[in-house]
Amino acid sequence: MTEDNITSSTTPTPMERTGVRLAPSLLEKVGSRLVILGAGESGTGAALLALKQGYEVFVSDAGPISNSYKAELEAAGIKYEENQHTAELILNAGEVIKSPGIAVKAAIIQSLLEKKIAVISEIEFAARFTDAKLICITGSNGKSTTTMLTYHILKNAGLNVGLAGNIGKSFARQVAQKNFDHYVLEISSFMLDNMYDFKADIAVLLNITPDHLDRYDYQMSNYRDSKFRILQNQTEQDVFIYCTDDKEISEGLKSRRLLSQSYPFSIVSPIKIGAYSDPTQIHINLNHTNQQPFNMSITELALQGKHNLYNSMASGIIAKVLELRNETIRESMGSFKNIEHRLEHVARISGIEFINDSKATNVNSTWYALESMPSQVVLILGGVDKGNDYEMLRDLVKNKVKSIVCLGKDNKRIHDAFTDDVDVIVNTFSAREAVEIAYHLAKKGDTVLLSPACASFDLFKNYEDRGNQFKQAVKEL
Ligand code: ADP
Repeated sequence: MTEDNITSSTTPTPMERTGVRLAPSLLEKVGSRLVILGAGESGTGAALLALKQGYEVFVSDAGPISNSYKAELEAAGIKYEENQHTAELILNAGEVIKSPGIAVKAAIIQSLLEKKIAVISEIEFAARFTDAKLICITGSNGKSTTTMLTYHILKNAGLNVGLAGNIGKSFARQVAQKNFDHYVLEISSFMLDNMYDFKADIAVLLNITPDHLDRYDYQMSNYRDSKFRILQNQTEQDVFIYCTDDKEISEGLKSRRLLSQSYPFSIVSPIKIGAYSDPTQIHINLNHTNQQPFNMSITELALQGKHNLYNSMASGIIAKVLELRNETIRESMGSFKNIEHRLEHVARISGIEFINDSKATNVNSTWYALESMPSQVVLILGGVDKGNDYEMLRDLVKNKVKSIVCLGKDNKRIHDAFTDDVDVIVNTFSAREAVEIAYHLAKKGDTVLLSPACASFDLFKNYEDRGNQFKQAVKEL
């Protein structure tokens, strides 16, 4: 990624070129046949929006389409195919919307690129048809938590706000069916990879730590560039909120010139304009005239743990940018209920605490989970390893983990990484087996923590399924 396609005062941005977010010239240029690859929530939502906008729509999924989405497509009279991609029906598109789950390397995407047919994300498409203020949150970890917390604050403040992106109902569906003034969007790097003219009014970059490297040629710089696309097309009117303690973000900023109003946040050093937390309080000051700084005691925050200080500060800055009242922000940051599968307390059985952190699908999130634990942890780890480097977990594992229960098909890399650091490492192949063995290995006062550092697809449908099976197994002990 070069500086030019981020923010530069000399090169006109696509917004400057087109003047408006909805670019009629662009729509005419791409022709009216729109093909959507992948019929999940984002694909189906995009199909409904495209139909409403007068496109000829065709949906194609290489796998089976769920009955509920098929029913919706049929009810709307939208043509689709499943279990295949028929090239003749796809390569004649004016433009293609790709599900974030489809890799660029997929044969059909390569054919489209060869034919120079534009491939965009559902977010890019939907943004053309709304004037709502777009608050976009990305990062390797903490996206869902920060998105939900921000939504909670804005909703409590009485704003007409929608929640979308990688979470809940798709953005496109909501643009087609609702009329929100604001959206809080959780944005993944896979979405960003196919966003071009899109512009976030408020962009948040929480952190950049290794994840999904299999999709980025195992190059951290490629993944970092992808995350920085959250800044593309921003002008002086827009806002960029970022973690200044993050090494990769600091590195990435060196080669980029920011036009946006920038607000860093930190837990390491005081920040004059932005947010920081000292050992007892978080402080937010945007230096706006007529605006009181915001301070809140850490113990009053609903979200506990170091990583959540970052998430709370990011949400708090957004709220201040939107000029919400301090009282409203404080009340909402205190009342938020954390979402399932993130450091979720499950039960205490025979004095053993069971915690479900199934959403920890990379090493960094497991690091934060372990960091917030007392010692004597039985750690359930493993699944699909996306190129993990376990080195950063070693000190915490040495100090806090008494045994590791592997829950994955292939656990060799975990054994190799920790064989010298813990006495017991066992393999298990189901949530029930993992829970039973962990229970057996733990003693009163210990914690059994499911924080796998890996994706779940080898043994489970997704991380929710893994977390639910874990919780069920704990209940059956
Ligand atoms: P995402 O949507 O980016 O995957 P989530 O909010 O669902 O993030 O949290 C995923 C995992 O990362 C959880 O295990 C959570 O405890 C951990 N986590 C949450 N926020 C952060 C953060 N700011 N830094 C590191 N880890 C975090």
